[in-house]
Amino acid sequence: MSHVFHRHSKLNPPTAVGGEGCYLIDSTGKRYLDGSGGAAVSCLGHGDAQITAAIKAQIDRLAFAHTGFLTSEPAEALADLLIANAPGELDRVYFVSGGSEATEAAIKLARQYWVEKGEPQRGKMIARKQSYHGNTIGALSAGGNEWRRAQFGPLLLDISHIDPCYDYRLRHDGETAEQYGLRAANALEDEILRLGPENVMAFMAEPVVGATAGALTPAPGYFKRIREICDTYGVLLVLDEVMCGMGRTGTLFACEQDGVAPDIACIAKGLGAGYQPIGAMLCTAEIHDTIANGSGFFQHGHTYNGHPTAAAAGLAVVSAVLDRNLLSRVREQGDKLHQRLVDRFGQHPHVGDLRGRGLFRGIELVENRETKAPFDPSRGVAAKIKKAAFQAGLICYPMAGTIDGRRGDHILLAPPFIIEDVQLDELTDKLDRAITSVI
Ligand code: PMP
Repeated sequence: MSHVFHRHSKLNPPTAVGGEGCYLIDSTGKRYLDGSGGAAVSCLGHGDAQITAAIKAQIDRLAFAHTGFLTSEPAEALADLLIANAPGELDRVYFVSGGSEATEAAIKLARQYWVEKGEPQRGKMIARKQSYHGNTIGALSAGGNEWRRAQFGPLLLDISHIDPCYDYRLRHDGETAEQYGLRAANALEDEILRLGPENVMAFMAEPVVGATAGALTPAPGYFKRIREICDTYGVLLVLDEVMCGMGRTGTLFACEQDGVAPDIACIAKGLGAGYQPIGAMLCTAEIHDTIANGSGFFQHGHTYNGHPTAAAAGLAVVSAVLDRNLLSRVREQGDKLHQRLVDRFGQHPHVGDLRGRGLFRGIELVENRETKAPFDPSRGVAAKIKKAAFQAGLICYPMAGTIDGRRGDHILLAPPFIIEDVQLDELTDKLDRAITSVI
């Protein structure tokens, strides 16, 4: 009997004992193609000797120093590298241990900024339905995933949720993608006006939605209009790039492709590529300096902020992504993956939508392609495909999202950036067989 508290008590998972490139290996020797990088984490694949060497070198020198007393060389160098490559006015990096800590810190930073700025009534936050920003209470409150929130209602913060930008389901007949992008973004203005602009501190969204909607890309112009609305009403724009950032979509920050920059950005997952747990929150000098020149103290913090070993891993990972030209590789292999999915599933009776950017791809499954009716949730389609794929030696990330009470089944693909063409074939073949065995 296992004493590990497994999240899925009935899953009884095999034991992972090794990793080589795009594959994970269990204790029976079975190999799994990591088609989703876990949950969009393992962007460099497994067993990258350059990254493990950087980690070992750092541990040998200095494993840990508490940031209440000292900073460290890898944390300083990683912050410099991130800022040198970050969009807009982002200027400071606050290191944490993962995605939820990054979004949680963003919520608190936005709030403290307004308090120190002399507008303490700005305490309302807006986010979107069908979104996920993490599992801690603040982050869960920002997320609009009904399934994850269901039991925790009384504990959650009062954060309002507007509709997501969901072209496949929410664009009207006769509306162009651009018109829809504008209409979807204007929902933010309506909500700001409803709450009173003087009360709103921030809007949080994922540039490309991962875990709740399967690589859902924004309509053209959506984020430009969102940025404009935030500027008009002085609302901070927080972009959660925990899943879609760090090169996953073909640019280091996903929002670069939408021509916008946030006031606060959250990153994690691909930052450490699974070699160490690390996340970060980036903010502008204006936000940082308001607090630095005010109270002088961001009222937040965790023991492992800026952990030197994790920072050394992050530094090695981001350097590798940039130095090995992996961003252009993501775009190339991403286009190839998309083409394979279109060839294989473009006419599939139960595939409603194929979407995404770079090596961040989503498949939306439907009962009826014409009406876009989702499968009955009781069929558990996404979960069954996950299981069938896993048995066949493919790790993919299926999920059941909800919007206005309707549930939809999606599969998210986020393979390592180093994936080769033959592995793209293997991924498509195994996924096809898994889908065919279920629906
Ligand atoms: N934000 C987004 C967009 C995510 O996808 C996730 C994780 N799936 C999180 C936040 C939370 O990150 P973590 O699991 O590292 O706490």
